[in-house]
Amino acid sequence: MLTQAPKGTQDLLPQASYRWQRIEQSMRDVCALAGYREIRTPIFEHTELFQRGVGDATDVVQKEMYTFNDKGNRSITLKPEGTAGAVRAFIEAHMFADTLPCKLYYVSSPCFRYEKPQAGRLRQFHQNGIEVFGAKDASVDAEIISRALKVLSANGIDGLRLTVNSIGCPTCRKAYLEKLRDYLRPKLPDLCKTCQERFERNPMRILDCKEDAGKLADAPAMLDNLCEDCAGHFEKLQGYLRAMDIHYEIDPRIVRGLDYYTKTVFEIITDTPDGTPLTVCGGGRYDGMVEELGGPATPGIGWGMGVERMLMVQDMRGTAAEAPAPLDALVVTMGDEARLEGVKLVDALRDRGVKADLDHAARSMKAQFKYANKLGARKVVVIAGDELEKGVVKLRDMEKSSEEEVSKSEIVELLAKGL
Ligand code: ATP
Ligand code: MG
Repeated sequence: MLTQAPKGTQDLLPQASYRWQRIEQSMRDVCALAGYREIRTPIFEHTELFQRGVGDATDVVQKEMYTFNDKGNRSITLKPEGTAGAVRAFIEAHMFADTLPCKLYYVSSPCFRYEKPQAGRLRQFHQNGIEVFGAKDASVDAEIISRALKVLSANGIDGLRLTVNSIGCPTCRKAYLEKLRDYLRPKLPDLCKTCQERFERNPMRILDCKEDAGKLADAPAMLDNLCEDCAGHFEKLQGYLRAMDIHYEIDPRIVRGLDYYTKTVFEIITDTPDGTPLTVCGGGRYDGMVEELGGPATPGIGWGMGVERMLMVQDMRGTAAEAPAPLDALVVTMGDEARLEGVKLVDALRDRGVKADLDHAARSMKAQFKYANKLGARKVVVIAGDELEKGVVKLRDMEKSSEEEVSKSEIVELLAKGL
């Protein structure tokens, strides 16, 4: 128990952390190129924020949240996703009064959901995400989709399926939901319990049910019932995607889990070896959410991308980057005086951007070389008796197995340039 992490959580160990750092860096680069700035919101929020912002008819809120009372008896929830906190911060910091659109991103943000742990499903996982406030044109829908695809391709994850849909707006959805209920009503007794519960509050989610989807193939689709504004928006989005050469499929079945999604919804999916699709990124427009949470009516759109799922796809495809060597150069020393020189040299090398170290475990000379090999250091600098007196060091190239004498005053410059 003491030496076992809680179910559904993972340590990020040093041999894998470089992969996260690369993903994080690419996310920062790809977002910065389009004028996005980073936001970090707290790991917990008032429970009500998620009930309102994610929607209390969703699986996330009904079954998956980590909710507890703190010592002041407030109901607190560990964030299950990134959008609600970003919307809250946008309102609280009056960002709506700044120049819009407000383009935000977050990196490896921890999310918590009480789910049954399995491949691609953790209880603490991490999301990269984008949220844009105050942009209603479909050009921004296309922009965030393109950013998501760039982050993926920058990490060796190309050619995933992009599926898009429109789930309309409150105006056209109202009439559609009536149509949908009329269609579903006679079928209700055959549907699962969750679907029966969703019939009144959130009938669109019934179409998303893994158990019942097969029975509902001929259900009316929101896409065929859009108002002029929503249909126009969806057309424009497709035009922008085509203009950027982004391939997409229309999937009238994507409804997404969140209540305040309007118009565009999309997913980026990959197929796993066992045939089950894995959603790496999901997002959409939420034009109603800022107002719902107490801010001025402001359109919003965003996506969340599971970092662990990106790593899974990299593993499936063998496209993970190789681990960088932790060191460029190891300084090998023999004797106290040499060691003093070694400490000085290592410090100087580090100042010049050379990843350098020396042995800290009192290894023998031979063992220090072994150590250099283990660490993958390309260069070894030897400081020992003879050389010390001559004011030189020995520079060994570990790849070429060649050795040269270099004057003590030149070694730093040589290594700094040569690497
Ligand atoms: P799913 O259908 O797989 O349950 P979701 O619709 O619940 O996904 P979102 O709420 O859209 O997922 O979250 C965005 C992304 O976060 C997902 O596309 C996925 O990559 C990741 N994600 C969601 N839940 C988990 C989890 N329990 N473990 C790991 N990653 C997750
Ligand atoms: Mg889920």
